[in-house]
Amino acid sequence: MDEHAAYFNNVATTCRKCGLCTAAQSESGCCQIDYADFARMMLDAIDRDEFQDVTDLVWSCTLCGACTAHCPAHISAYEFVHRARCVLNPVQPAIVQKFAPMRTDLASSSFKQLRKTRKPAFPDALCEAGACEKLFFPGCSLGTYEPELSARAFAHLKDTDRADGISYECCGNPLYLMGDPALLRQSAQSLADKLQSHGVAEIVVACPSCFSALLGYRDDGILDASVAITPLPVVLAQQGLRVRPDDLAKAGFDTVCVKDACRDRNSGTFAASVREILGETEAVELAHNRRRSRCCGSGGLVPLYDTDASDDKRWCILQEFDDTEASCLVTMCANCSLALRQDGDENIVHYLGLLWPS
Ligand code: SF4
Ligand code: SF4
Repeated sequence: MDEHAAYFNNVATTCRKCGLCTAAQSESGCCQIDYADFARMMLDAIDRDEFQDVTDLVWSCTLCGACTAHCPAHISAYEFVHRARCVLNPVQPAIVQKFAPMRTDLASSSFKQLRKTRKPAFPDALCEAGACEKLFFPGCSLGTYEPELSARAFAHLKDTDRADGISYECCGNPLYLMGDPALLRQSAQSLADKLQSHGVAEIVVACPSCFSALLGYRDDGILDASVAITPLPVVLAQQGLRVRPDDLAKAGFDTVCVKDACRDRNSGTFAASVREILGETEAVELAHNRRRSRCCGSGGLVPLYDTDASDDKRWCILQEFDDTEASCLVTMCANCSLALRQDGDENIVHYLGLLWPS
């Protein structure tokens, strides 16, 4: 039995069928299936070499992890669906082809193409000669979709001696999501080699998904154990940076609420620091926040496979935001901002945009 089948077999026997995950899936508008049943379907599909029955379940999941956030058997939707994608990837090339724009290991990736049209203000320290002890890592989404904020954050970190250089490298998360472990390993190793050859001792990370991926590489020994990995909002909160009420008022906002990031749900590190940065700002909470936060719809590469599933999730968040009657929805992930703003809402703002208004 290969390692994925062994994993599904283990899930099928450890799941207690308590129904917590199916209740959360129902709230999130997902297909309702507990992980014992899902695991049996995967084992059956592997056995028959016929994957039609599991295709939508696997590729329409945004891997938000909401359904297993309180799983008493410690089953992780994130790991389960990734493994399922690893099984389906080699046998479903037409689906995998849809994710080609997210092949961040290639020059043709959407992020690299977009950055060509909006040249970053600072050169990539990992592509330059010379050492870089403290590196700012904005991640593909902030570095590409919010280049001004990314540059502003780096300028601040440089001024306060918390970064010597910035890099626009990808953490490899899109390759993880498409279920290609060989590409992921290659990409992670290439990043680790660059970090090592430039003498990077600390990485300040802007994106919750990059943060989680880099911690995983360090745990797996791909990245040197001595490299410190620190979330950007933790640095900014410790430095005492706070959103100024005047800036908020000038932007036309009074009460805010925070859209938490799926990859932060277990540690809550970004959630706590971003709320600290909001300071005295009057804040209300979404009905699903922190550990129970819902997905913005952009996770798991789902917009490239199932736009309806992605739209449904986005509208759920926007409805929760409406229900709070807050004037501004504050994000901590640039992917969330982009996804949630696609209907033209101008009151959805990355927290860095409140700290440093344009
Ligand atoms: S929450 Fe965990 S134990 Fe409960 S049914 Fe879902 S997967 Fe099984
Ligand atoms: S999208 Fe989230 S809540 Fe729905 S099945 Fe996937 S991990 Fe669970």
